Amino acid sequence: ENGERLQKVMAQAGVASRRGAEKIILEGRVEVNGELVSKLGTKVQPGDEVKVDGVPIDGSEKKVYYLLNKPRGVVTTASDDKGRQTVVDLLRDVDARIYPVGRLDYDTTGALIMTNDGELANQLMHPKGRVDKVYTAKVKGIANMADLAPLKKGIMLKGRRTAPAKVAIEQVDHDRKVSFITLTIHEGRNHQVKDMLFKVGYPVEKLRRDRYAFLDLVGLQPGDYRDISHDEVKRLK
Ligand code: URA
Repeated sequence: ENGERLQKVMAQAGVASRRGAEKIILEGRVEVNGELVSKLGTKVQPGDEVKVDGVPIDGSEKKVYYLLNKPRGVVTTASDDKGRQTVVDLLRDVDARIYPVGRLDYDTTGALIMTNDGELANQLMHPKGRVDKVYTAKVKGIANMADLAPLKKGIMLKGRRTAPAKVAIEQVDHDRKVSFITLTIHEGRNHQVKDMLFKVGYPVEKLRRDRYAFLDLVGLQPGDYRDISHDEVKRLK
């Protein structure tokens, strides 16, 4: 049988020394994948969930993946110093220590992945990952393609050129003097979409992320979330 001895895995996670871990096992305080293990000699595999006194040891928590339609008025951090509601608060039925993959602004709505899989999170956030993010912005003004064209090549923002973006005008409301623009980018700089559109003359009034990679908002109202399926997780990797 392969795998690592349970007490070694516990010791490596910093629970106790190996001898100490053996004692904890014999005391009946350890579960592997939800089953009590109170005898020595058990081996565990990578991905097995080991809990001591009901708490997963570091690195062994079962991986979970959710897609949230972030509402406005919620911060995308695990805790907020001003005491505002966070995206983690919205997934209150989830026990795992999840966090958001990247950020959406306080007033931005839309697709946000929440997970405890740090490896996948890092991979998705890395610019080389080139994950497409599709945004719809409601902007001030009557948009025309001539103004927006520079975004297709890239523009200078804070001393760095943005990567080429896809841009389309969805709708122009001549009475209210607002327009709806779809922008597809794969970078994730702070306030990037707002800054890009502002720079070409269209201040953003509302912003929604319609899609993150292939994950869209179908069936999700703001504040709703769903599991990301096993197959979808595989496609993301
Ligand atoms: N770009 C922004 O300006 N804001 C967001 O929330 C996301 C992308």
